Parts: sequence; structure tokens; C-alpha cells
Amino acid sequence: MLGAMMNRPLLIAPLMAHAARWNGQQEIVSRRCEGDIHRYTYADAYARVGQLAHALTGCGLKLGDRVGTLAWNTYRHLELYFGISGIGAVCHTINPRLFPDQIAYIINHAQDRILCLDLTFVPLMEKLAAHCPKIEAYVILTDRAHMPETSLPNAICYDEWIAGQPSIFDWLEFPETTASSLCYTSGTTGNPKGVLYTHRSSLLHSYAIAMPDVFNVSRSSVILPAVPMFHVNAWGVPYMAPLIGAKLVLPGPGLAGPLMAELIAAENVTLMAGVPTIWRMLLDHLKASGQRLDGVDRVVIGGAACPAGMIQEFADLGTYVLHAWGMTETSPLGTANNLTPEEQALPPQERVARQVKQGRVVSGVDLRITGADGESLPHDGKAFGDLWIQGHWIASGYFGVEADPAFRDGWFMTGDVATIDPDGRMQIVDRSKDVIKSGGEWISTIELENIAASLPGIAEAAAVGLKHPKWDERPLLICVRKPDSSLTRDEVLAAFDGKIAKWWLPDDVVFVTELPHTATGKLLKTKLREDFAQHYFA
Ligand code: ADP
Repeated sequence: MLGAMMNRPLLIAPLMAHAARWNGQQEIVSRRCEGDIHRYTYADAYARVGQLAHALTGCGLKLGDRVGTLAWNTYRHLELYFGISGIGAVCHTINPRLFPDQIAYIINHAQDRILCLDLTFVPLMEKLAAHCPKIEAYVILTDRAHMPETSLPNAICYDEWIAGQPSIFDWLEFPETTASSLCYTSGTTGNPKGVLYTHRSSLLHSYAIAMPDVFNVSRSSVILPAVPMFHVNAWGVPYMAPLIGAKLVLPGPGLAGPLMAELIAAENVTLMAGVPTIWRMLLDHLKASGQRLDGVDRVVIGGAACPAGMIQEFADLGTYVLHAWGMTETSPLGTANNLTPEEQALPPQERVARQVKQGRVVSGVDLRITGADGESLPHDGKAFGDLWIQGHWIASGYFGVEADPAFRDGWFMTGDVATIDPDGRMQIVDRSKDVIKSGGEWISTIELENIAASLPGIAEAAAVGLKHPKWDERPLLICVRKPDSSLTRDEVLAAFDGKIAKWWLPDDVVFVTELPHTATGKLLKTKLREDFAQHYFA
């Protein structure tokens, strides 16, 4: 028997309609690529989203067509999120930090019909346009006064394009499983793979991240997503903020420490979200300038392991680090690490030891860890194995890929290796392709790196497993020293004393001036393994 409740599809456009109708005067503040600060309200945003929807349908765009974006976090990008998905087209956010040939590859793979781009990325696309012959028009996200001279074919000025359109759009209703947005994972090997979100998955994810044990937000919150809108939809914040009616602060291209500190203070930000690299820049600036972070209750950190030192630095400024884990394939939220009041009251070292874990699973998804034979491993905080995930906002496959072995029996194999505590806290031990297999046992590269990075003279550290004549693989630690440091190999190795099993100790330490990174700032370990391949055979 079917229930007797209204059956309305979970769609994205109504989120912004709700914000405009019920929190219409709430502000959206953006640092624009033009250099100034722009502010308007949800009511203003919704009117422009309507105009954009008319402009898009006027170009013949229809359900399922892809529109690419190459843009920073600003109000215009937010409008694209809602206007494109609102008409049933797919908002394909492109990561400008990918290599140019990867950008061309994904534009062609996605078959983007229109590309909307910030001023910053005009020179990049002028070089790539010849390799993207299917793009029908380039919409430059600016006003007439700032429109550049450009060789891009069919270049349109965004503000002018939407200006003449009516602001009221009659939103279509379509099934909630319709594709809403598309994001490619950068990947460290092979071509990027596309994850195709649905309206339903995006909505359910928005409700989930707003919950108290996750972002813990309300319409009194002031949210600053430093994580780019081209990196897993800025972790869902652009959908969640209108859902709850929170003030939104969008930093545009201004991610350097001083600009961030200025915006946070001026707009009274209460919650921010981003990867550790961004916060390193902010914390360094705060230390140098003596500025504080008054009013910022919570900073959500994920995308890479948040170092213990960073958790304490934020705590000293009165800000709680909510460590979270996820992937492009998981929308991204999988786990979040909120401590209980009793745990909050623990001595700093014990509290931080809990906070460095990636946290508890969020209701709506499920996790499991498996061993070498595929058997489920116990939640004892010690056994580590392959981490699997399933749930409402987890990908079921890659866009345009027939079948991928990572998707099996209703689960997605994350490629991460993890432990789960008796109280349900998950901890990432490594990426499965990075974990070091020495004499049949596994060594966590993340743990080695964390210990090395806690030394004051170390700026960054990478541990990799290298082929070894006797042990199959042995760890090598590759470090970048801080400019004023003269730390030696033996001093680094001494730091591991008593912290790890003897056989985990790296066989050698080498110093380099720089480590290679992927487009999303992760260590490019494939390159390091190649560069140092012969190290233990020399
Ligand atoms: P990419 O940056 O390569 O496009 P993702 O952003 O999807 O891809 O990266 C997901 C991966 O990042 C995860 O599988 C995991 O290895 C790593 N990751 C994400 N959050 C954390 C975290 N809090 N701690 C450790 N690793 C993390």
C-alpha cells in the first residue's frame, strides 16, 4: 500500500526559491575577480537565477545538456549552480588547477555546450579553445565595463546576457534522479573520471551536512566556504546555505592569508570549510600579524588529513576543528568528527588524539572495512583494511564508463585504508596504493608523515614505499626543511623513537626543496616513487 503524502521530487531550484521567499534579506557577500566586494540578498540572487534560466533556455539548452564552469567562489558561480541545474541541465564544475590537457579532456568528455568562465581563466581558455571544438559559446562572468578583448569565439558578457531577461522563471518539474551536476576527480593516474550527482543526492547531502554533529548551522550562521566550488561542489555548502537561510561569504580568488583574515573579520564569519593548505596560509598570517579569529566557532577541514598541530593552533584561537572525510564520489561527506562534551573537556593531547581521526559515519551512508580476503574486519581501532561506503549520496559508477571494479555489490571501494574504533570513529591509515607493504605487513605512510611534520624544522614530509631487495618494500621519508632549519637525517629519525614499531622506521631520509602535488594539492606519490625508484638498490 502506498502512503498518502505529497510526492514532490527533491529538486535544487526550490532551495533558492525558499531562501528568497523566507530569508530574502539574508546576505551573500563575494570578493569579485574584478577586485571589489559585492553584496546582495537571496531575493536578489533568486531574481538573477530566474534571468539566467531564461538566457540558458534561450540558447536552446535542454534537459541533460552540460554547461561547464571555470570559476571561483562568487555570487555569479552560485547563480550558475541554481540556474543550470534548475532548468534540468548539468552544472559541470571544472578544476582550473588541472593540467591544461586534462581540462580539454574533461570538457570534451562531458560534451559541454557552453562554458562560463571567470576573467582569471580567459587566457587559459584562449589557449585551449582550439582543442574544445564542441563549445558553442563562452560566457565571461563579468559586466560590460570589465569585458576583456578576447580571441574566444562567441564570447558573451554574463551580466549583459541575463540583464534583459524576466526574473520569474516557471521551473519545470522532473524526476529527482535527474543529473544536476558533474565533477571530475583529479586522480593521480590515468584520465580524470566524472561523478554525476542527482538533484536527490544533492538535497539529501545538504540536509545531512547541516546537522549538529556535522556543520551544526542555522540561519544565524555566517558560512565561508574556502573550498572551491570546483572541488566537489564546495562540499555542498552552496546548496546547504540557502536551505537553512545562512549568510554566505564567498572569497573569490582571494585565498591568501591577509585577504581571508580581512573577510572573516569584516563579515563576522562563524563557520568556514576548506583543505589544510588554505588554513596553513591563514594561520601563518594570523601568527605574523597577531590577528585573532574571534567569532569563528568551527572550521571544517578535510580533503587531506588535518595535522594535530593545526587542530591545536585553531583551538588556541577558540575555533573547533571538525575533521571530516570524503571524496568526489561521495558528494563528499562520509564522516565527521564531532567530540562529545566529555571528550571536549579532555587534556589537549588526548582531545587532539581523537580529533585527528576522520570521524563517525553520517546517517544516510554506511561504511565497512575488509581484509585481504574480503572478510569484514572488527571495529577495534587496530585492524585496518579497505574502506567501503554506500548510501544516498554515493556514486553508483563513473560518467560514461561502462563498469568500474570499484563499484561492487552495492558498495563503492574508496581506495582508502582505514580502521574503525569501537565507538565508530574511522581513521584513514593510507591510500591503498600508497600503503607500504614490508615483509607482508602494512606500514601507514600518513602516520610516518604526521610524526615527521610535527618537527618544527620540517615544512612538509612524504613517506613512500620503495622496492627493496629483501623486504619487498621499505619506507623512504622525503622532507622539505623550513628555510631556517638545518635538521639532519639522524635528528629526523630520532623523532620516531618510541612512537612507532621499530620495523616501521624509514630506512632513509632525504631532503628536497619541493614536493610534487596534484591539482587539488595532494602529494603526488607516483612521481616520488618513480624519482626514487632505485634508492634502495644503489
Ligand atoms: P581529488 O582531490 O584527487 O580530486 P578527492 O577530493 O575526491 O579527489 O579526494 C578524496 C581522497 O582524499 C580520499 O579518498 C582520501 O584519501 C583523501 N581525504 C579526504 N579527506 C581526508 C581526511 N580528512 N583525511 C585524510 N585523507 C582524506
